[in-house]
Amino acid sequence: MRPLSWKSVRLWTTALCAIVLSACDLGSVPDVGEILAVVVPPAERIDVRELGSGQTFGELLDGRLTMNEQASLLLAFQEHASPRRMRPGTEVAFRYLPELEELRGIDVQVSRDETVRLTRAATGWMADRMETPVYVDTLYASGSIDNVLWTSVVGNPDLQSMPIADRNRIIDYLDRVFQWQVDFSRQIRVGDTYRFAFEREVRPDGSLRAGQLISAELVNSGTAYHAIWFDPNGDGEGSYYDLDGKSVRRAFLLRPLAYRRISSRFSNGRFHPVLQRWRAHRGVDYAADTGTEIMATSDGVVIQRGPNGGLGNAVEIRHPNGFVTRYGHMSRFNSNVVLGTRVRQGDVIGYVGMTGLATGPHLHYEMLRNGRHMDPLSVDLPAGDPVPADDMVRWMDEMMARVALLESIPGGGPVRTATTEDLEAHEEDDGTASGTGIAARVIDVDGGMR
Ligand SMILES: [Zn+2]
Repeated sequence: MRPLSWKSVRLWTTALCAIVLSACDLGSVPDVGEILAVVVPPAERIDVRELGSGQTFGELLDGRLTMNEQASLLLAFQEHASPRRMRPGTEVAFRYLPELEELRGIDVQVSRDETVRLTRAATGWMADRMETPVYVDTLYASGSIDNVLWTSVVGNPDLQSMPIADRNRIIDYLDRVFQWQVDFSRQIRVGDTYRFAFEREVRPDGSLRAGQLISAELVNSGTAYHAIWFDPNGDGEGSYYDLDGKSVRRAFLLRPLAYRRISSRFSNGRFHPVLQRWRAHRGVDYAADTGTEIMATSDGVVIQRGPNGGLGNAVEIRHPNGFVTRYGHMSRFNSNVVLGTRVRQGDVIGYVGMTGLATGPHLHYEMLRNGRHMDPLSVDLPAGDPVPADDMVRWMDEMMARVALLESIPGGGPVRTATTEDLEAHEEDDGTASGTGIAARVIDVDGGMR
């Protein structure tokens, strides 16, 4: 998944809210005496129905409209969605003017993120497609690991309002960010701690639409790792850096699948299960279910896409510095990825399958440099670029605000960085500021909903 574009102003808001919330006592409401209740009739009466199993949209409309009107409505609806593809359980809201009991509109939730709004006009029915509104907020959580990371995050009391599937997604976000520092499946220890600030878009039903870790800390076996999101152009193409502005990512992902089990490693000789003879295995096999997403491990250009002998459906990508990666046995390709497509690290290029010489669904992954095969699990991967020198001032500002978010999580304590210590020492020299002074520059507020 590609990070979304996030307005930095919202991050500033978040920082301010975090500070304001912790500073103010919201419990004191002034006593202004008795206020008479004013009852306002609702602007609309809304009757929400669900499409039954085997029921058509037309059947749900029956009796509410004339035949002519129903035909006009379905015609308008078809501009945005297919009435035949509507699933059982689809919510249809009939909106009436309360006085006249006249149907003025119908909202059809065609997917979790989109609604088709049908409106009655003088000339017939008209349709518009609307994005379901989402709230943007920031989630803070911290915890220590007393068993495994999964149990700690899924059972975290700070996250209990989220559906379990969304808590799983948070683990996935953390894993993607820290994958080069800590192997979540092998290196997490009892006593390790984590804390993070996660900006998210939430649907009205409380489920997560999208999100972005904005700052995170993982203390693993006594070593603290930090990842701070920084997107100087505000175009969603930012990256994660440690407190010193060094990239936490490498030029290549460690693996092309989010959920993986290595079923065969790189070797110069092994017994091939299909060919029934010894031959070298110049790649790594990852067992995974058919349909699991396969990601490009680095930025590059697609130089092969299609059937490739024993590799079955395969993709080959050329990267800078003489690197090529190869992905085999796919069930299908991402239709947007063709010969010559420029891909970014983490883009989905296809899906796990068992085409070619394979006894079960898995991904065969190869890495070559200057035409020679390398073991992807042991190659020393080049580091990502640090914060560009031109963006240093802005980075310092944003990094410190995002570190302040972590410090605002109760029970965490300060994130010690050379930079903040230097600044505090400097302030003390002047005899001016006290405290960390980190959030003092936060000035802007917006509603946080869109
Ligand atoms: Zn293989």
